[in-house]
Amino acid sequence: MARRKKIYEGKAKILYEGPEPGTMVQYFKDDATAFNAEKKATIDGKGVLNNRLSEYFMKGLTQIGIPNHFIKRINMREQLIRSAEIIPLEVIVRNFAAGSLSKRLGMAEGTALPRPIVEFCLKDDALGDPLVSEEHIIAFGWANQQDLDDMIALALRVNDFMSGIMMAVGIKLVDFKIEIGRVWENDFHRLIVADEISPDSCRLWDIETGQKLDKDVFRRDLGNLADAYTEVARRLGVLPSNVTHTTKPTLIN
Ligand code: UDP
Repeated sequence: MARRKKIYEGKAKILYEGPEPGTMVQYFKDDATAFNAEKKATIDGKGVLNNRLSEYFMKGLTQIGIPNHFIKRINMREQLIRSAEIIPLEVIVRNFAAGSLSKRLGMAEGTALPRPIVEFCLKDDALGDPLVSEEHIIAFGWANQQDLDDMIALALRVNDFMSGIMMAVGIKLVDFKIEIGRVWENDFHRLIVADEISPDSCRLWDIETGQKLDKDVFRRDLGNLADAYTEVARRLGVLPSNVTHTTKPTLIN
């Protein structure tokens, strides 16, 4: 196979030049990082699971008319995506208090918020992705007012879709992060959901038991991350129900 040109390598994914202009190949690695890459590990099977799960969520978004970068899955670890100019902001939507919000405001994890809250963090590893206000975003030109309004509307639609999908399989969507990109058509651009949607970037709690089924399992050493993601995939019907990642081949005597 011809060597592909690598465009960008991040903590969990690699982007390669796509087969046609305006496309890229997104490769999902098994690498997991947390706390701004201070904690690192390789988790067998994570990339395969996130490739399938992100495909599942993005296809669902397409089906309800929410524009996103997904074109098609190529293989176990790769998907073809539309290139977009990524807005350098992490868009976080929260339904229940957790993580940095709990810490910042001294609010117990799991407290129901009065309404979904949208936050923006600047994508800058060196600064530790600081929280920024809409004022900062406009003043420093990371997005204009129209983009901001569209980003909030897009994020809230994704929240409703993801909350519903998760509720149907007994999972509470506590919060999540998305990235949004611009695609240009002549002088105009529109916004699309980009990057990935997976348990790496969501907080997912079992509704009955509160068990964590997301990257907090890795951040807080709560067990096997691939098992947690497999459980999410199994409930959504994304993988056959008999596939688990800790099951090793057994010898038949
Ligand atoms: N998140 C993410 N990437 C980041 C920061 C946050 O995917 O760089 C996700 C995280 O998994 C959670 C949500 O965004 O679902 C809110 O994260 P929070 O601000 O609470 O930060 P954390 O506690 O994860 O540092």
